[in-house]
Amino acid sequence: MKYVVVSGGVISGIGKGVLASSTGLLFKTLGLRVTSIKIDPYMNIDAGTMSPLEHGECFVLNDGGEVDLDLGNYERYLNITLTRNHNITTGKIYSHVIEKERNGDYLGKTVQVVPHITSAIQDWIERVAKIPVDDTGLEPEVCIIELGGTVGDIESAPFVEALRQFQFRVGVENFALIHVSLVPVIHGEQKTKPTQAAIKDLRSLGLTPDMIACRCQEELEVATIEKIGMFCHVGPEQVIAVHDVNSTYHVPLLLIQQKIMKFLSKKLHIGEISQEASVK
Ligand code: ADP
Repeated sequence: MKYVVVSGGVISGIGKGVLASSTGLLFKTLGLRVTSIKIDPYMNIDAGTMSPLEHGECFVLNDGGEVDLDLGNYERYLNITLTRNHNITTGKIYSHVIEKERNGDYLGKTVQVVPHITSAIQDWIERVAKIPVDDTGLEPEVCIIELGGTVGDIESAPFVEALRQFQFRVGVENFALIHVSLVPVIHGEQKTKPTQAAIKDLRSLGLTPDMIACRCQEELEVATIEKIGMFCHVGPEQVIAVHDVNSTYHVPLLLIQQKIMKFLSKKLHIGEISQEASVK
């Protein structure tokens, strides 16, 4: 299983969901079975009790699960059917761990955020990623994980730590991280400082971006891309420009133009999956 994590910095609502669904779609065009998991670092068990004015519409899945609207994006972009367990919330993880604690599963141990909550998150991801979600009924090969909120928030800290550990659990060739950041345009100038600060925060938490997706109201200049590459310690091919488009269904095309799959396929050894499939 290959895991692609999409996280975000600078501000919320930056377009992580659209970027994650678009990236999943590109994996699908390579003939791979793709699934997705959305992490929402709030204490609610699910989105069913939250005001749509505060959080956007609540999406209802086939199994009745009331979840974040991003799961609707995933179902539409990837033509898959997800379950309530594909939406992980802080509330679900804590109640799962507390139930185990009451059950005596940790007897003798002090139950802590690290390692018990962080291990529960990783176990949950591995378990749910294997659930068949398309009409082949087969286990998916790629799992896109969107981490809601902004890296650096108190709320997302246990998930960030779990993902830091997870890259070693699954192996670096099975884990890629795309960090979505903002490039504001101020007095006609594209500013890279918020992105530099966001990547510094991410690295300080032990996560290294494989790609930095930059949301900007206009097309990114070559000089901006080079500057971000240099100050954020990545190659220019690892900086993706995602400017505002009329329809979010154009975002996959933007990603194709920038050949993001060339980099991700190499990082994730995707050729090996295709070879294994042809041998079978
Ligand atoms: P997040 O998952 O970070 O909260 P979303 O993916 O839900 O963000 O996107 C937030 C809003 O921005 C949505 O209304 C979405 O349609 C819009 N959006 C995302 N990417 C783009 C883009 N490249 N151009 C225009 N609008 C976008």
